[in-house]
Amino acid sequence: MSKNYRAELVGAFGNPIDENPTGVMEEAAFAAKGLNFRYLTVKVEKEDLEAAMNGVKAFQMKGINLTIPHKVKVLEYLDELSEAAHIIGAVNMVVNKDGILWGENTDGKGFLISLKNEDVSVEGKNVVILGAGGAAKAIGVECALAGAKKITVVNRSRERGQDLADLIVEKTSADSIYVPWDTSYKAEPDTDILVNATSIGLYPDVDKKPDVDYDTVMPSMVVSDVVFNDPNTLFLQEAAKRGAHTINGLGMLVNQGALNFTLWTGAEAPLDVMTDTLKKEFGL
Ligand code: NDP
Repeated sequence: MSKNYRAELVGAFGNPIDENPTGVMEEAAFAAKGLNFRYLTVKVEKEDLEAAMNGVKAFQMKGINLTIPHKVKVLEYLDELSEAAHIIGAVNMVVNKDGILWGENTDGKGFLISLKNEDVSVEGKNVVILGAGGAAKAIGVECALAGAKKITVVNRSRERGQDLADLIVEKTSADSIYVPWDTSYKAEPDTDILVNATSIGLYPDVDKKPDVDYDTVMPSMVVSDVVFNDPNTLFLQEAAKRGAHTINGLGMLVNQGALNFTLWTGAEAPLDVMTDTLKKEFGL
């Protein structure tokens, strides 16, 4: 039998990208599964995205992750989109299906799996999302598609917040409202799930927390954070003090990475290996 010196290629395009740890997690998973795949962490400037996506085809890469600032612009270079990616209007991953580039957004799906792993379902629930950026949009749309009753979007900039609430009402069967965030946010007592989907608390600003009246957080609530570095955010610490069930951002990160792994390789993702690798990377 002839030898094969060629690895299958996947990776990430972004800028900044140097500090993105996804490659370490995915490569550990490939090794654990004995797959001859390589994950390339590639710096791609905004104006070079078209050339880079042509490169995905030219190099016959199996797929690619997209991060800042490419998640929306990349839609112009894709052939097909998943339903969620179409509604969200952004993708974080692409699969190259024999030259057809198919875009998906696994951020919100990773979030839902991280909840499910803690026996939390969004079906029929009142979900409050702090933020209306890329992560908030993916989470809001996926929660709505998964049967959440109502999504409350709390955001600093009005236009972004209102746009997300309008999008959810237009494109899904969930109810959604926008709440301006100009004073300390008070959680309504009927809130089931409260999510920080802003970047507040992200390293190095680990001493910052979203402006919430934490005494309105109740033990009946599930409180989750998308920030994963450091995962033990002040937001979650405050919620835990009030007896809430807290879920950190590592689960979302690992699970979206696991979904990407499976979409690229067709193999089941080694979740334990991926989680352990990330924790080690973050010194946890
Ligand atoms: P965006 O830049 O798209 O959105 C940022 C959001 O945070 C906006 O709603 C913005 O409000 C809000 N925000 C930022 N600073 C403040 C502040 N000081 N006060 C109030 N609101 C603020 O970022 P992303 O959505 O892409 O990322 C958000 C976070 O999610 C990041 O920390 C990222 O690392 C994390 N993330 C985690 C993932 C995971 O797997 N765990 C996956 C993807 C992202 P405004 O509209 O007013 O500017």
